[in-house]
Amino acid sequence: MSKIDATLKGLEVSNFIGGEWVKGSGKSLDIISPYTGSSCGTVHIANAEDVKSAVTAAKQNQKEWAAQSMKSRAAILFKFRDILFRDQDKISSIVAIENGKMIPEARAGLMKGVEVLEYALSLQNSDVGGKMEVSRGVFCEYRRQALGVVASITPFNFPAMVPMWTIPIAIAVGNAYIWKPSEKTPITSKYIADAFAEAGLPAGILTVVQGEREVVEAIIDHKDVKAVAFVGSTKVAELVYKRATGNGKRALCLGGAKNHIVLLPDADIEVTGMGISDSFTGCAGQRCMAASVLLAVGDVTAHIDKIKERAESQVLGDSMGAIITAAQLEFLNAAIERAVKDGATLLLDGRNAEAPVEYKNGFWLGPTILDHVKAGSEAAVTELFGPILAIVRCENITEAIKIQNSSEYGNAASVFTSSGPMAEYVAANTECGMFGVNIGVPVPREPFSFGGVKSSKFGHGDITGDQSLDFWTDVKKVTTKWENQKDHNWMS
Ligand code: NAD
Repeated sequence: MSKIDATLKGLEVSNFIGGEWVKGSGKSLDIISPYTGSSCGTVHIANAEDVKSAVTAAKQNQKEWAAQSMKSRAAILFKFRDILFRDQDKISSIVAIENGKMIPEARAGLMKGVEVLEYALSLQNSDVGGKMEVSRGVFCEYRRQALGVVASITPFNFPAMVPMWTIPIAIAVGNAYIWKPSEKTPITSKYIADAFAEAGLPAGILTVVQGEREVVEAIIDHKDVKAVAFVGSTKVAELVYKRATGNGKRALCLGGAKNHIVLLPDADIEVTGMGISDSFTGCAGQRCMAASVLLAVGDVTAHIDKIKERAESQVLGDSMGAIITAAQLEFLNAAIERAVKDGATLLLDGRNAEAPVEYKNGFWLGPTILDHVKAGSEAAVTELFGPILAIVRCENITEAIKIQNSSEYGNAASVFTSSGPMAEYVAANTECGMFGVNIGVPVPREPFSFGGVKSSKFGHGDITGDQSLDFWTDVKKVTTKWENQKDHNWMS
């Protein structure tokens, strides 16, 4: 596996406003690499006044951008795609350094973002609207129109992929877009914004403002920001959703997750071992699609042995990355301790895993498996966001589904079985937005859309796919009559 350069320091990122990188009037924050536990760079954050300037700059070229044909906007997105492919090594390594992921994981995230970009590129051939002769000589048609200035706020865990869920589509349909990356992983935004600029995107069509709560609130409160997309924890998703909709804006806010996997005794042992183990250990468990609770129905001892065997083979810093902050690592260690006090058995204790020598001051936790976790206990219900799998033993499928559906979250769920009817039954009765059969990370591929239910999402529709078009546009209904008709009706 390719390794990251732990000696890398002094990376700088600021705010991209009106096509220029500007320092911003807020403070400067250290960016701590989870690999080393020390600063790899600095982010210069904005304040509420900078947000006002950013919106003014974004408005400047938006109408002209929206007036171009979809084809000419897509031409720039095509160039952007070429640049991402050219620079993928550099971008993946930046994502890994600031986020703690392995480089292959960082690259996979970037490429998932490219899939959404390709969907946006396909709009030039597919978004034909609709037109019909509704009465003799009278035509009604749908025309999609950009909203104007729109914004999104993104989390630390996928610095390239999550922003790319929205940027290409929102820009392709003619909006100017303001992006507030996570202050924990802001450096990637420099590479994405520079790639857009090199591709020829007009100034102000992509803006990056760095910051924390003050900047987010200034974006949400600005009267000229028409729509806000958010991805992050449920607590903040709800705050942002309420504030944005309270201000009369369109909002779609994706929150946290606690994903359950129902494991039946007839499941293939190899497929199960790999699928479930990789789901909870990939990206060190810091993904909203990670397996978190294993609902083990009946005797699945051989399957659990296989999950453990594969998890044990992970090598920190070589096949598995780090935890985002020292505080989060402390939280995870304490949560493991509390789970044991709550009666769980430690099948695999990641706290004993060896941290890589060259990154010994980083934030490391190995795969952890807690068995006999009680339904309703903290490890079974709280989003921990780390490489921890809580196994809850169940008598039957009915009990497993009941536990899954009692979760406040509804992002993803899966079943592992060799029975089609059983898989269908669990799929039909499980409350979640994305469901997998014999797949641990059931992320839909484009053009199928991404989004959860319950407190994993506030707002209507999904963040990618066709529904995202409705989010980023208004649909104008145009009725046209050119002929001078003899017969009159109410439409004359
Ligand atoms: P977070 O909620 O702490 O931060 C997300 C964004 O909100 C950041 O840009 C941050 O600066 C901003 N923010 C933080 N506090 C704020 C406040 N009080 N007011 C306004 N803005 C604020 O989330 P995180 O720790 O960066 O990311 C991890 C979380 O994101 C997990 O809960 C994970 O499940 C979730 N997530 C969900 C999805 C999904 O598709 N549902 C995808 C990725 C991550």
